[in-house]
Amino acid sequence: KPRLYSGMQPSADSLQIGNYIGALLNWKSLQETHEAYFSIVDLHALTVAQDPAKLRENTRRTAAQYIASGIDPSASTLYVQSHVAAHAQLAWVLNTITGFGEASRMTQFKDKSAKQGSDGTTVGLFAYPILMAADILLYDTVVVPVGEDQRQHVELTRDIAARFNSRFGDTFVIPEADIVKETAKIYDLQNPTSKMSKSAESHAGVIWLLDAPAVTAKKIMRAVTDADGGVVFDRENKPGVSNLLTIYSVLAERSVQSIEDEYAGRGYGDLKKGLAEVVTGTFGPIRSRVLELLDDPAELDRLLALNADRAAGVANATLARAFDRVGLLPRR
Ligand code: ATP
Ligand code: MG
Repeated sequence: KPRLYSGMQPSADSLQIGNYIGALLNWKSLQETHEAYFSIVDLHALTVAQDPAKLRENTRRTAAQYIASGIDPSASTLYVQSHVAAHAQLAWVLNTITGFGEASRMTQFKDKSAKQGSDGTTVGLFAYPILMAADILLYDTVVVPVGEDQRQHVELTRDIAARFNSRFGDTFVIPEADIVKETAKIYDLQNPTSKMSKSAESHAGVIWLLDAPAVTAKKIMRAVTDADGGVVFDRENKPGVSNLLTIYSVLAERSVQSIEDEYAGRGYGDLKKGLAEVVTGTFGPIRSRVLELLDDPAELDRLLALNADRAAGVANATLARAFDRVGLLPRR
């Protein structure tokens, strides 16, 4: 089976629905046909300030959400990034063949560093995409299922891999991003032209997987729409309504057209009520399962340890190959 790699940051105590719709749903179907590695990328989360106790807890919570959303930890390798030392080790080597200008062009860095200010912006945030390249390349990954916001980072990974291969001889598989066009970008409900994010400054427009149904419903009812009033998909002129229709369509497994038809001539209030039912209906069972899994943290930790061993077996072999190619003297 071809190898697949992807991950999410434990940067909040819950995932948001963009993570679920843009990535997890695709992971779930691809894990059937691929040898899949799903990481909780805690080293990436450190690139912006985290509370240590919360980071630890959010790492377990993220693992529980993967499993509750349908990732099978016996078929796929679900592990914590920092448990496999090879990630940080390969990242260092890749840092040394990545151009400063090349890394400076990453739009996620520009966006996130603009929010942090110059003193709040760490070298780690700058090097984030190179650590991500290491994640992917360690597993001889063929497919990387991600949201649209990660396309540029996968492109960079391909460039770095190709450069390494041409300089030091064939070492890495060149991976490809798998981005599902319709669901590649879910927008903030209060700001429907920017991406929904775990680390958004305001949580008013972010739907969390683990929110109570009443909280979710309230956020949906308050979603920004427009003055036009028609339930019609039009990304350009009606970004708010189009975003609601996308979420509805994916979670209810219905075409956008059939939803437009159902709500034709009715107000946005009705659409939002219907959507709130669909969203809370989807995440209710996931939320209960997460709470169940978190009730037994020792079992979760045991599972993560087993999976980390499996991941390390693959990663260490690739790391040794890369170290050898660049001329690091093996320790005998
Ligand atoms: P942070 O704000 O901390 O960066 P995030 O919500 O962007 O958090 P990540 O952990 O960075 O989440 O990304 C996890 C995965 O979810 C990636 O594959 C990313 O492309 C995808 N993703 C994140 N936000 C969205 C979104 N709004 N729509 C679709 N996919 C998304
Ligand atoms: Mg992100």
